Amino acid sequence: MVNFSETENQKMIAQSIKDFGAKEMKPHTMKWDEAQEFPIDLFRKMGELGLMGILVPEKYSGSGFGYLEYITALVEISKIDGSIGLSMAAHNSLCTNHILLFGNEDQKQRYLPKLATGEWIGAWGLTEPNTGSDSANMRSVAVKDGDHYIINGAKNFITHGKSGNVAVVIVRTGEVGDSKGMTAFVIEKGTPGFTSGKKENKLGMRASETAELIFNDCRVHKSQMLGNPGEGFVQAMKVLDGGRISIASLGLGIAIGAFEAALQYSKERHQFNQPISAFQGIAFKLADMATKIEAAKLLTFRAGDLKNRGLEVKKEAAMAKYYASEVAVEVATEGVQIFGGYGYTKDFPAEKYFRDSKLCTIGEGTSEIQKLVISRSILR
Ligand SMILES: Cc1cc2nc3c(=O)[nH]c(=O)nc-3n(C[C@H](O)[C@H](O)[C@H](O)COP(=O)(O)OP(=O)(O)OC[C@H]3O[C@@H](n4cnc5c(N)ncnc54)[C@H](O)[C@@H]3O)c2cc1C
Repeated sequence: MVNFSETENQKMIAQSIKDFGAKEMKPHTMKWDEAQEFPIDLFRKMGELGLMGILVPEKYSGSGFGYLEYITALVEISKIDGSIGLSMAAHNSLCTNHILLFGNEDQKQRYLPKLATGEWIGAWGLTEPNTGSDSANMRSVAVKDGDHYIINGAKNFITHGKSGNVAVVIVRTGEVGDSKGMTAFVIEKGTPGFTSGKKENKLGMRASETAELIFNDCRVHKSQMLGNPGEGFVQAMKVLDGGRISIASLGLGIAIGAFEAALQYSKERHQFNQPISAFQGIAFKLADMATKIEAAKLLTFRAGDLKNRGLEVKKEAAMAKYYASEVAVEVATEGVQIFGGYGYTKDFPAEKYFRDSKLCTIGEGTSEIQKLVISRSILR
């Protein structure tokens, strides 16, 4: 039985983010974007609101909510600024969730309260310069040395690669190409041999920091391992099932933000002595945008509901991620069109939604990889 109504918690979260965003985000989004500034203080404030540990149980200082509340929160943040949504997604559903799902009690006690309150920022490293979609062929390696592992290699495109206080990284402990030859470690900033490298200069999502992680004879104790040796890749794929619901929510939020801006503008802008919304060519664009957003919303909440109930979600999360991401790009592109020449300037929000939206079809598995996951699932 599908329940389409929002819970009281969802309504409360949406309203508090609207109030927070109007004060703490909207006045600064273009400054952060142009300067590529990662506003770390904002994330501490988001921690105070409970947005940095939404899925974390209260006993580890989290908010103890489920995926429906998580989706609502990410949508509301991403309506205002996609790059803050991307960072919130990476922190919550990649780094923090990996520790929540696969950490032992000591690791959970040690890291989750700091992450869930926003005192610490988390990073998650799977991608390498030569292996993105093909992550099972990663080359970064951890070699056992008594009770320690010596890690060498590099991870790139890592959200919070520089500012992260702690990173979960998946590295090779077995043969190249063996999906059971990878292991996850949680590594704190300041560990000798663990540094960050180049920060990317990006098209969009510019307030979300993206940088390299570098490991040079980095020695970590075996107690920093998450789960058992050889489980890293399977863990990462499970983490990504939830992560894809995040990126679907991110895309959905960007699409709604772009749509609402275009809708309002279409009623205010007059040409030929009438608002442009009176032209069927514009009204039909708005109808298409609104319909696609509704469909993306249903897929995303459906995946969240399955996840909440502990049911298999791989195909549904991939469908939600694929569809909502493509809708974000389509809606944001039409948004620029509705704004006309003004949409091409930085005086209006349309161009930022347009730039930010494209990441959604790339991060946490490209649209092509989502189609691979979906087709494998339906052809099984
Ligand atoms: C802003 C940003 C933030 C990110 N944050 C993180 C992070 O925090 N942690 C992390 O680990 N990674 C992160 N990533 C990396 C991201 O997940 C990868 O960029 C993504 O998975 C694609 O990998 P790639 O860039 O190497 O592209 P490639 O894998 O080289 O793909 C290039 C093209 O080939 C296509 N392609 C590849 N294989 C196939 C196939 N089998 N069939 C059909 N087409 C295929 C792709 O779809 C794409 O169009 C981030 C990336 C960005 C841009």
